[in-house]
Amino acid sequence: MNDVVLTGDRPTGPLHLGHYFGSLANRVELQGRLPLYVLVADYQVITDRDVPGEIRRHTTGLVLDQLATGIDPARATIFQHSAIPELNQLLLPFLSLVSVAELGRNPTVKDEIAHSSQRAVSGLMFTYPVHQAADILFCKGTLVPVGKDQLPHLEVARLVARRFNERYGPVFPLPEAMMGAQPLLKGLDGGKMSKSRGNAIALSATEDETAALIRKARTDSERLITFDEERRPEVANLLTLGGLCLGRTPRELAEEIGDGGAATLKRVVTEAVNEFLRPIRKRRAELSEADARRVLAEGNERARERAARTLEEVRSAMGF
Ligand code: ATP
Ligand code: MG
Repeated sequence: MNDVVLTGDRPTGPLHLGHYFGSLANRVELQGRLPLYVLVADYQVITDRDVPGEIRRHTTGLVLDQLATGIDPARATIFQHSAIPELNQLLLPFLSLVSVAELGRNPTVKDEIAHSSQRAVSGLMFTYPVHQAADILFCKGTLVPVGKDQLPHLEVARLVARRFNERYGPVFPLPEAMMGAQPLLKGLDGGKMSKSRGNAIALSATEDETAALIRKARTDSERLITFDEERRPEVANLLTLGGLCLGRTPRELAEEIGDGGAATLKRVVTEAVNEFLRPIRKRRAELSEADARRVLAEGNERARERAARTLEEVRSAMGF
């Protein structure tokens, strides 16, 4: 089978270490071997807030973060929801394939409603997993590098593909999630590291900002550093972060720090993160907004052509 990789992020803020270890590293690793589509999910920004906010700045930033991490626009198609009407049109037939009860049961939607800044839950919040099915299926994506929070959405995409094929004949392959080294990296407050929750270390943060964030992270007063997720979740989280950046297990790192206490732990993790991000930050500083705009314009054109072909196939299968 010819695999196609699709993945994306919302332009709600800068990409962070959770993105890197959850999904970005796999994108870079797969590009070149397989067709890779990277979506800037701009319409999804308004699922959990009333207005899109600084959407242009975040869109440009998202593209630059990916280029800095090693996504090569000659081998990957980076594109935006709002530039691909044919992709969005797939939402109509796809919505007819799922029930309201199925949409209401989605655990990730429930979690996002809990963190939403909207006064009332919008219809878009309930239907966005189906929109994501359109994101994946428009290019017949089969491999989707995502974090753990996305697994319920992948089930919706598979359901939509399966039901479409059953009703109208075989059009879509069933996509599969591809998890990274850390399917759910926690932020400095212990919850999922998220752009919109103020608990993230951005790939583009400065060394001083990174140090300040890690300095503020909660720890405990035990001198001996051990990796114990149950009893010492805050310490375990810092060990995980440092370990990922150093290519070591959190336990190995704990043994190295030994009885150095929280101060040593924070110093080691700060150095590890800053060292790890140095080449990414250096490349990012060499890129300009014009680079991002050019990459998006080219990607939008390619993605739109791909979406038009799929929409035509869908209409024809449905007998329109
Ligand atoms: P927001 O708070 O605005 O929702 P986010 O940080 O959750 O932002 P998304 O754009 O929603 O980021 O997610 C983009 C991709 O990154 C998804 O595949 C998601 O699963 C993955 N991802 C996001 N946060 C993490 C994390 N903490 N650990 C692992 N993967 C993550
Ligand atoms: Mg999110």
